[in-house]
Amino acid sequence: MHAKQMAAVIDAECFQSQHGLIVRELAVVKVDLDASSLECAQHCLFEAPFDESLLRAKHRRCNRWLTAHMHGFEWAGRAGGGGEEYTLLPQILRAATSLATEEIFCKGEEKRKLFSALVQRPVINLETAGLPKLSEVGVEPSLSCKFGHRFSDHHCALQKACLFAKWLLQQQRAEGGYNIFYL
Ligand SMILES: [Zn+2]
Repeated sequence: MHAKQMAAVIDAECFQSQHGLIVRELAVVKVDLDASSLECAQHCLFEAPFDESLLRAKHRRCNRWLTAHMHGFEWAGRAGGGGEEYTLLPQILRAATSLATEEIFCKGEEKRKLFSALVQRPVINLETAGLPKLSEVGVEPSLSCKFGHRFSDHHCALQKACLFAKWLLQQQRAEGGYNIFYL
């Protein structure tokens, strides 16, 4: 029996800070490349690592805009009932991706750097693998968010990770293999 070919997709809804991205909502979706199926491996919220008053004014403004127009989460975890301690982020992410025998993917260069540093493995930016705009991906997410978003589900880490995973499986089927990602 050969080991399952398992890839993983990570996405997060984040805040901005002088220390880079601060993860608020994290989602990891496992992609079984043999069975062409996907499954949620982790989906959780994180408490803010420090008080909002320590942010620079420009980041505070940006974050309030994200709350008001994008993911809807508040700094320091009021929406959705708090979350995990921020210091647990690396170990939670490593545990959720430990079954990935194949590549780990995310979307965006800033997130790629962050996730790669946290899991201590290479992470591939889907934008460099031909991922189109979310509205043009042409698949529907099959996982729903338990935290609730005020606006579109396109600002949900789980829904996006699910869409990216479905797109990966679609490419795998279309190309009859997985090598497209190395082109
Ligand atoms: Zn969500």
